[in-house]
Amino acid sequence: MMLRGSVVTPAGIVTDGVVEVTDDKITEVRAATPADDEAGVRTGAWIVPGFVDIHVHGGGGFTFTTGDADQARGAAEFHLGHGTTTMVASLVTAPHALLREATVAFAPLVADGVLAGVHVEGPYLSAARCGAQNPTHLRNPDPGELSELLSLGGVRMMTIAPELPGALDAIGQLVGAGVVAAVGHTDATYEQTRAAIDEGARLATHLCNAMRPVHHREPGPIVALLDAPEVVCEQIADGVHLHEGMLRHVAHAAGPDRVALVTDAMAAAGMDDGEFDLGGLVVRVRRGVARLSGDGTIAGSTLTMDAAVRTMVHSGLPIEDAARMAATTPARVLGLDGELGAVAVGLRADLVLLDEELRVTGVLRNGIKVV
Ligand SMILES: [Zn+2]
Repeated sequence: MMLRGSVVTPAGIVTDGVVEVTDDKITEVRAATPADDEAGVRTGAWIVPGFVDIHVHGGGGFTFTTGDADQARGAAEFHLGHGTTTMVASLVTAPHALLREATVAFAPLVADGVLAGVHVEGPYLSAARCGAQNPTHLRNPDPGELSELLSLGGVRMMTIAPELPGALDAIGQLVGAGVVAAVGHTDATYEQTRAAIDEGARLATHLCNAMRPVHHREPGPIVALLDAPEVVCEQIADGVHLHEGMLRHVAHAAGPDRVALVTDAMAAAGMDDGEFDLGGLVVRVRRGVARLSGDGTIAGSTLTMDAAVRTMVHSGLPIEDAARMAATTPARVLGLDGELGAVAVGLRADLVLLDEELRVTGVLRNGIKVV
């Protein structure tokens, strides 16, 4: 199969380029020739790598957070339609039994490639910065509980607040098991965050959101994470969770190789306004903004990755940077950069076609047209 358009590659944009796909791989990326006009290849305005979402709780009315495999397939299908060809299933703070059962229930989806693994967001998080995480189930890190969860396989990432007693040992446990340790939902000081990074934490869960804010005499987790070259910073680019100026600042300060766009989407993504469940809490969605029904705390988003890319481009970033943040960098976080995450020869043919307005007009996954 041949696709034609402006191709966003790691080396830059090939204006009027051709991407050739053989079976499930990208086999050629080149400039178009007059012969391609006659061949009548499929044309999109832009050809970008399939998006990689490393923080997503659901979408299209379906949720990952209950551990139901059919729900998970529905959520994955919904986001695939918006260009996300690789995603993890993010669980929220819940009783240990639910986290265990969900991880077991999702194992077949991980095995057949629908999911790239499970992201456990909680329960070892700060009560002061819990955001829309259910405070009833928050607790301090428990090494026995954690090793049981890790022994199931499938867990690829966990978010921890490093100031909790036992958190640094838990980060060590995650790193030892080859699981990405993420810092988030945290009231940590700058030094406590640095200690987590020294222990091997390599990801900031939605940097800025649900974190102690910056103060010039106590820079806190945001500055510590942003300033660490080995840490990738998640950003929820929905225009609600973060000011456009902050999105630009983080992108410029960290660079596109250290920013991963995430949706943090919940079931409400792609749905009409209404009430939705998030880990046992009621979330009310009005004009696409999700808030806890009690105190109005901003909850998960209704974002999709194509919309996140549009937000970044509209905020002034070049499309090649947005593509890197939506695909290449998050693929590297998951250790999948040798397989996917860029339009490059030899990688998996996960591709998204976008029109001039950056709306999805086609999606290929494993070389198969799914949209
Ligand atoms: Zn989340």
